Amino acid sequence: MRVAIVGAGPSGLYAVDHLLKQTEVEVNVDLFEQLPVPFGLVRYGVAPDHFSLRNVRNTLEKILDDDRVRLLANVAIGTDVTVAELHEYYDAIIFAYGTGDDRNLGIDGEDARGSLAARTFVNWYCGHPDQDREPVEAVLDPSTIRSVVVVGAGNVALDVVRMFVTTDEILNRTDMPQHVLDLLTQLKPEQVHVLSRRGPVEASFTTKELREMGELPNLDVVVDPASLELHPSSQELADTDRLRKRNLDVFAEWAQRSPGTHPQQLHMHFFTRPVGIGVEDGAVVSVDIETTELDDDGRVQGTGQVQTIPADLVIRSIGYYGNQLEEVPFDEWKGVIPNEAGRVLRDGVQVPGQYVVGWIKRGPSGVVGTNRKDAVETVQSLLADRDQLVTAGESRSSDVTALLTERGVEWVEFDGWGLINAAEIALGQTRGRDRTTLHERKALLAAAKPPQ
Ligand code: NAP
Repeated sequence: MRVAIVGAGPSGLYAVDHLLKQTEVEVNVDLFEQLPVPFGLVRYGVAPDHFSLRNVRNTLEKILDDDRVRLLANVAIGTDVTVAELHEYYDAIIFAYGTGDDRNLGIDGEDARGSLAARTFVNWYCGHPDQDREPVEAVLDPSTIRSVVVVGAGNVALDVVRMFVTTDEILNRTDMPQHVLDLLTQLKPEQVHVLSRRGPVEASFTTKELREMGELPNLDVVVDPASLELHPSSQELADTDRLRKRNLDVFAEWAQRSPGTHPQQLHMHFFTRPVGIGVEDGAVVSVDIETTELDDDGRVQGTGQVQTIPADLVIRSIGYYGNQLEEVPFDEWKGVIPNEAGRVLRDGVQVPGQYVVGWIKRGPSGVVGTNRKDAVETVQSLLADRDQLVTAGESRSSDVTALLTERGVEWVEFDGWGLINAAEIALGQTRGRDRTTLHERKALLAAAKPPQ
């Protein structure tokens, strides 16, 4: 069986792993990736200061080191090769391309200078080759940024906050591009505000990541004890869900801390949502925040009470949204590919030979490891269907790389990744770092070529 997987992030790689480990059918996998490098969000999402999480890359790399798998990076499906063409070469396609777009707040000022989607900021600090540096760096002036507002109460919001409040010692140990490191070590806003539209029990943070915030040496964490008084439905949630109770305990401990004297303050605002972003001369200057409350069903409602907080930078971290790939069904409301146990559905009917895994299957939730179980489910569906799969036709004797060559596509295989890896380590060592991420597509492609 020949399988194409679209996306070389954790979900795609876990799908490869499970396909290789099963013994029911002999399988060859081509792993397509639009970037010149594999690993998806492990490279371009997991925060650079979360060293052990980023080390998952070593485990994922081993999956690629197998003769039955071929990495074809720097190949964009939908542009360089269409999905219909893939069907001519492969018995099945698994879409694993994640969620590459942002959700919007839909409030005035959202598009002003100084208001960034979290994805843009994360892409910038991780050195994503498709992220323009200039528009981001233009709004990150260390001499003017005193107050930063981060909207959203999830782990991405905490990742973003840490980039402003973690120590230089930690920043220096990351593999961020050098220009990012140089800028972030200068950028030390005095006030950082996190806005959560629901309460401490409903917030999506995980406890480990929260605790980490409370242990940073230069930071005071500020929580209003009144915001920890719970609605009966929230109390019930805290009583029945250990994870939420643990978060509540962390907030309660923070609320009891006496006012600190550290140079930076993190304010956790519960029951607040932004209703407008104040703009002067095209740039963000403040955020209007409305107090919210929960109704009897636990839904958020505005109270009409609005106050304004100063802001030189707003980062909107309210979740990601998937993109549609031409010829592939898409649920616009949820931003995912409709599916049942990983089988792609069009109007409720299975599309032969198409499967889906990861965030584009279930939405942007869970940690890296969640994708392993998810991949097992999808691969099991594929294997169960194998007698009904239309085997790839005539072109099967030819190879997709003939088509890539014809179209002038410069693809990168696993050996090429090895060269990029070595180049990043060598670049890091020039500045006494373990590695430094190459952030330009041109530089990545040049590094992937064997020396003449
Ligand atoms: P998330 O966990 O879904 O959090 C999104 C937050 O945005 C929620 O608090 C949500 O509030 C809020 N929100 C949504 N729409 C809003 C609106 N219109 N106005 C105000 N607030 C709004 O998403 P995420 O932080 O992007 O993380 C994605 C996944 O990656 C999560 O599973 C996360 O745990 C994982 N991740 C893990 C780590 C780690 O270190 N372990 C790091 C990064 C990401 P409501 O709940 O009220 O909707």
